Amino acid sequence: METVPLTPFKVVVEGIKEAGGDADKFCYQCGKCDTVCPWNRVRNFSVRRIIHQAKFGVVPFESEDLWLCTTCRNCVQRCPRGVEIIDVMRAMRRVLVPDGVVPTSIPNLRGFMTSIASVGNPWGQEPNERANWAKDLGVKEFDEHTEVLYFPCCYLAYDPRLKKVAQATAKLLNKAGVDFGILGSREMCCGESVRQAGNEQLFRRLAKENIKTFVDMGVKKILTSSPHCYNAFKNEYSEFKVNFEVVHITQYLFQMIGEGKLKLTKEYAKQVTYHDPCYLGRHNGIFDQPREALKKIPGLELREMADARQDSLCCGMGGGRIWMETAREERFSNLRLEQAIGVGAEVLTTACPYCITQFEDTRLTLKDGEGIQIKDITEILQEVV
Ligand code: SF4
Ligand code: SF4
Repeated sequence: METVPLTPFKVVVEGIKEAGGDADKFCYQCGKCDTVCPWNRVRNFSVRRIIHQAKFGVVPFESEDLWLCTTCRNCVQRCPRGVEIIDVMRAMRRVLVPDGVVPTSIPNLRGFMTSIASVGNPWGQEPNERANWAKDLGVKEFDEHTEVLYFPCCYLAYDPRLKKVAQATAKLLNKAGVDFGILGSREMCCGESVRQAGNEQLFRRLAKENIKTFVDMGVKKILTSSPHCYNAFKNEYSEFKVNFEVVHITQYLFQMIGEGKLKLTKEYAKQVTYHDPCYLGRHNGIFDQPREALKKIPGLELREMADARQDSLCCGMGGGRIWMETAREERFSNLRLEQAIGVGAEVLTTACPYCITQFEDTRLTLKDGEGIQIKDITEILQEVV
């Protein structure tokens, strides 16, 4: 039978569909997605238009718009037609990335992928320095007799600010008597942001290598600090027919407190507000445990911001945006910190390395930013046990 060559137009449509981004069936262009997308708080951006373009196989090749989506999921939960908007965005990126079609305005993207591909972390750091954060903390290497694998992620392993979160976590786990270990130099990027940024091939390679390590080492239960690792291991690695028990640190600590293994004895007399990371809250429904853990701290007063829980305002760093430049005046994190300051919070706490990084940076440039502290939940808990 004679085969008819696909036209470039059809190639694009097929590519989007193959990648799971079928926008063809449902979208009726109501524009609800545009009204909830955080980008429209800082600039004009039409998700609706991109979905329309995807339907007709048009990929905005040189436009930065396709790379703006932070995969925060706000539009997906509001779409009356159930269009999987994130899948469409990701699928379009997947069509472009293998051909190297990335706007010149986001030059960092290729560099971070190259580093992850060569040494397993986005900054090109030495793999054998990956466990340096754990020095003198009595943290052992994972072996097949260890109950829990603690997977801190690239940020907590290498970044000077986030290392403190890994250290606070290890101290809490030790205090609670948890039998845990780390992979050290065998730990590698989970690949979550790589996939969101459109490099499916690299994501699959990382996932397979990590899964092989987990299986070889006899890992059954994985404890993560990053909601992005959590989501990758729980919801994306399962595509490879594996099924590890995956727990986020906020869930685990809440459980430890409930079982009396962690006693919150010291007072923390501060007004605190909690920011729901998109990949913990909207993507995985974990809203209550972090709040309940905070409420058990003596003296702590929890104040809610306007955009909380399902409506949480994205920090702006998901979907691979952590590796791209965002103009200072267009950062959602400015709005979020203003909200936190607005409810009288002395501390903005969260449970995600991307959020912490972005809020710490924003804090330095925002008027009144000096008056608020940014803390991971583990850091607060570590101060009060
Ligand atoms: S909210 Fe859903 S149906 Fe409405 S325009 Fe956006 S994608 Fe289409
Ligand atoms: S996922 Fe978030 S950032 Fe992306 S288009 Fe939807 S609302 Fe906007």
